[in-house]
Amino acid sequence: MVEILKDLIIAGLGVSGSTLAYALSNKGFKITAYDPIKKYNKACGEQITGTKNTLNLIKKSDSIVTIPNYFSIYVNNKEKANINFGGSSPWYIVNKSKFVQYLRESSISNGVEVIYRNWKNERGIITVDARGPFSGSLKNKILVKRYILKTEWDPNHVILDFRPNEGGLYWIFPADNDGRLVNTGGGFVNLWNDEALSKSIIEYAKLNLKNFEIIDVKAAPLDVFSQYKHYSDNIFYVGEAAGLVLAISGEGNRPAIESSYALSDAIVKYALEINDVKNYYLKLSKKIVNDSILSRKLFTFTYKYRKSIDMVNVLNNIPKWFWYKYLSVNLEINDIIKLGSDLNFILSVIKGIKY
Ligand SMILES: Cc1cc2nc3c(=O)[nH]c(=O)nc-3n(C[C@H](O)[C@H](O)[C@H](O)COP(=O)(O)OP(=O)(O)OC[C@H]3O[C@@H](n4cnc5c(N)ncnc54)[C@H](O)[C@@H]3O)c2cc1C
Repeated sequence: MVEILKDLIIAGLGVSGSTLAYALSNKGFKITAYDPIKKYNKACGEQITGTKNTLNLIKKSDSIVTIPNYFSIYVNNKEKANINFGGSSPWYIVNKSKFVQYLRESSISNGVEVIYRNWKNERGIITVDARGPFSGSLKNKILVKRYILKTEWDPNHVILDFRPNEGGLYWIFPADNDGRLVNTGGGFVNLWNDEALSKSIIEYAKLNLKNFEIIDVKAAPLDVFSQYKHYSDNIFYVGEAAGLVLAISGEGNRPAIESSYALSDAIVKYALEINDVKNYYLKLSKKIVNDSILSRKLFTFTYKYRKSIDMVNVLNNIPKWFWYKYLSVNLEINDIIKLGSDLNFILSVIKGIKY
């Protein structure tokens, strides 16, 4: 089996591509991978939700920076809920470059050949597109920017500040364990103007941080609208290239890792039987696909109806249990149904309808 699969090609060695290369090269598969960037350092909030698979990799790569437990949910800069996980936080702040670099280097020592240039549609017996937001056109993607700031901050504390009318959010995450660095940023539908985005993030930082010094700035596209696709035209898709981002939060790291493990397990099990690989990949990635589709639907709904319903009012009335499940990335369709049957919530929606 290993001999036949000489031509496994991976386009992109970011979170998903390097996870896939790592998992499959550990099983002896022969892989060629393409990525134009020698040292991965794409803009990110550097948050990864802990699951069995993600924790396994972030521990092996020794990339944990801090584990925040205290979360503040804001809507339009007003605090609406506090959640304290009291030591059982599902959120990990990591050094993502170190994380990806570990996976790349381990894959290379397992025999993966990395070619540092753009993938030019080279095909293997199995070809995987792991180019993240750089797969396909920039249409439907939003610009997200992050700043690393030197300031004073509780490394246990995270702020998520939703802006439903702008279709986006600001965040403040700790970026070290000493209370000196934060990672803050934001992204909004239709705000592709880099200057305007930078200005709004700096204004946001001024409102929420005492004094700060800019250490680093970076931006990247994020795909919040594309439909999920796992296989098309003889190419498998993983991570953001597959459309796997939780649109409401912008979470893409866990989906990238989980989808790559799912595809890796499917390839290990069915090797060249493309149809079986396809079906098994779909089966194994069901949870992350459903999470992503649900988040995308909620995001599209709130953005679409923002002119007819006062979404700020609606978000203000979301009960605490919902935020808890949201932060634990445990939201399911039943939770939406439960929310929909909550009398206070229904009243807030009715009150918020603009006639
Ligand atoms: C500012 C910002 C903050 C974010 N914060 C978070 C967060 O805190 N938590 C979270 O979970 N998610 C976050 N995300 C989303 C997350 O970063 C992505 O969803 C995740 O990196 C997707 O992984 P991926 O492997 O699919 O793509 P990527 O990690 O983007 O990797 C794609 C790779 O493809 C390579 N590539 C590009 N073009 C080509 C080509 N033509 N040929 C070959 N290779 C190519 C790139 O160099 C890159 O290495 C954030 C995104 C942004 C922009």
